[in-house]
Amino acid sequence: MREYVIGVDIGGTKIATGLVSNEGKLKQKVVMPTLSTRGLKVSLEQVYKSIAGLIKVSKVDRKKIKGIGVCAPGPLDPMKGVVHNPPNLFGWHEVPLAALLRKRFSKPTKLENDANAAGMAEVIWGAAKGYKHVVYVTVSTGIGTAVIINGKIFHGKNGMAGEGGHVTIDYNAKNARCNCGNNGCIEALASGPYTVKRLVAQIKKHPGTKTNIMDMVDGELDKITMITIAEAAAEGDSFALETIAEEGKLLGIWLGSMVNVLDPEVIVIGGGVSLIGNVLFKEIRKSMYAHTINIFAKNTPVLPAKLKRDVGIFGAASVLIKR
Ligand SMILES: [Zn+2]
Repeated sequence: MREYVIGVDIGGTKIATGLVSNEGKLKQKVVMPTLSTRGLKVSLEQVYKSIAGLIKVSKVDRKKIKGIGVCAPGPLDPMKGVVHNPPNLFGWHEVPLAALLRKRFSKPTKLENDANAAGMAEVIWGAAKGYKHVVYVTVSTGIGTAVIINGKIFHGKNGMAGEGGHVTIDYNAKNARCNCGNNGCIEALASGPYTVKRLVAQIKKHPGTKTNIMDMVDGELDKITMITIAEAAAEGDSFALETIAEEGKLLGIWLGSMVNVLDPEVIVIGGGVSLIGNVLFKEIRKSMYAHTINIFAKNTPVLPAKLKRDVGIFGAASVLIKR
């Protein structure tokens, strides 16, 4: 029988809510503003409205809806279902979100952080399907990870495990102060914004060298994004290719250590930066194999994520899918 789970992806600006079937099809989606600057009461009401609105427009029999999965920005406690104090949700402090939603909608409800949820969605419907021991990585404005052991998200003692983006790679690195306050985390070296910064520094350092990138952004360096870099690399631009090689090297060094610790069956990489594609993945694999003591690492596939659109909704829904 076809059953459904509601996936709720709460972000700082919008709440995306979707009805996902057990086969992984998104039947209906509702997007609403979070109104997070107006405080907890208003933004929580938006969450309620988005779920109620979805149930109404989808016209699915409520009995076929098996539960509500929610992903929200951390820090949060997935075991207790409590949102601690995310910087982009104003006024949210120790909110027992799972319990509140369970009471309101009388459905089993689970809370999970963004990266863990996205990793689980890859295990159930995406690139990690069929694997039990998975390292999932998302590289975009930040770097998030999920550690999945024996098909289950590893949460640690306080639900804070899997923050692989804040592994220190180079504590002496210049201009690499991470958003977490430490210096030289992989997030501060290899996330999208820092990678763009590194490219801009290179262009400034070599003013005489020709690059298509300047034409692509009409000479305005602050318009450069990872998409610019990917497009320039596809045209063979040397600055872009060098930046991607460095990016792959850094991610590979880091993933080599992750393989040392976790010995996963597969590594899945998602997020905007992964869309650069094979040119980046080749560099990552090369560097990862060179920076691990795991003699089996060469047999560990490093794959691009399959779920791209609505990954937040799929992630939230996936934590409630029974297998
Ligand atoms: Zn950090």
